[in-house]
Amino acid sequence: MSAMIRSSNNGDFRNFSRFRITMKTTALCLLVLAAALPVRGEKLTLAEARSRIPKHEVPAFWLGQVNGLAERWNRLALGKVQTIAVSPGGRPIHLISYGELESLPQNANFNSAVAALQPSAYRDKAARKKPVVLLVGPVHGQEVEGLTGLGNLIQIMETGQDLRGKEQSRLLALGRRCRLLIIPSGNPDGLARFEPRMLHDMGLQDLEFWGQGTWSDDTFCKWPGVKRVHPMVGSRVGFLGCYFNDAGVNPMHDEFFAPMSPEASAILRVAREEAPDWAVSLHSHEYNPEVLRPAYLPMETQAEIGRLAERYSKRLAGLSLPHTPPFKPKAEDGNPPPAFNLASALYHVSGATAFTFECPHGLRQEGASRVTPEQILEIQLALYESIMDHALERGNRR
Ligand SMILES: [Zn+2]
Repeated sequence: MSAMIRSSNNGDFRNFSRFRITMKTTALCLLVLAAALPVRGEKLTLAEARSRIPKHEVPAFWLGQVNGLAERWNRLALGKVQTIAVSPGGRPIHLISYGELESLPQNANFNSAVAALQPSAYRDKAARKKPVVLLVGPVHGQEVEGLTGLGNLIQIMETGQDLRGKEQSRLLALGRRCRLLIIPSGNPDGLARFEPRMLHDMGLQDLEFWGQGTWSDDTFCKWPGVKRVHPMVGSRVGFLGCYFNDAGVNPMHDEFFAPMSPEASAILRVAREEAPDWAVSLHSHEYNPEVLRPAYLPMETQAEIGRLAERYSKRLAGLSLPHTPPFKPKAEDGNPPPAFNLASALYHVSGATAFTFECPHGLRQEGASRVTPEQILEIQLALYESIMDHALERGNRR
């Protein structure tokens, strides 16, 4: 069986195939293996991966493909729609905003303002009437739970109802008290490669195939190997996983001081220009919903995110949804130490209280969080509600 190691701060899943089976559970595990998944080291071709996609239709409220997204956003009546970049595959990256931009003077970039002992020289966030919340949709194309959540939030901001037709008056009211910046898909190239449209009810190795891809001999790239070639280009590459844009860049681990991808560049530009109070990079994994500890952020900012995580866990518990205890803030250590990723970069360009969120896919897999698509939507909406509640309650002051 697979013993899965929880991701620490990298916004992706990590999986070690390691036998840690007690005699008591052996029979059950063998049954699972026999029933569903190839074992470690096996190969999977694109044709085989396609043959494993369940035949059932995805729910009408689910957004799981790039086709139709631009048309959907172009039909919006209230949201301001901007194309902030074009991917290497020629696909637009959209920013949809609600709430007026409150222009404030900017005398310095963020890190110079901090060095001047006056973060407000970058932007006096406390002077704004509304908190600014930046919601960054999946930069890993297969993690469409965040795209579905944001598409439903956009529908709520437009109509007061989610894509199921369910009234969401509280979320609408909260959203109207914020400036919302929504990037529904942070990696449309990766999304375009994601044929299943949802991983719900699929296995871990389906996630590994579509997410991380394969080498040219059809073996799985897997973590950590999937990050040892970047950009993911050249003759070694088989199926390019949905982590990557068409140029092989994983925006979560771009070269942030000299970005390789238009996706990460555009996301960070929005953050620099808008100076959000809060920013979240939406991801998905096998486990229960989890706010990850952001690496290389001040302890005070980590603690603030920890309080948000606690609020969110309580909210999920109240909804009888799975949840995870909040992380403990800590300084970076270890060899190698945690990676500086997109969430870290969001803080360092804008002072945003920035973090990575991991949503369950609802995999049919031993040890996975077995949520339904409806529960996945509830998990997403509860996150946005908690962030807005928290931002409004705390005010803009940090
Ligand atoms: Zn991810």
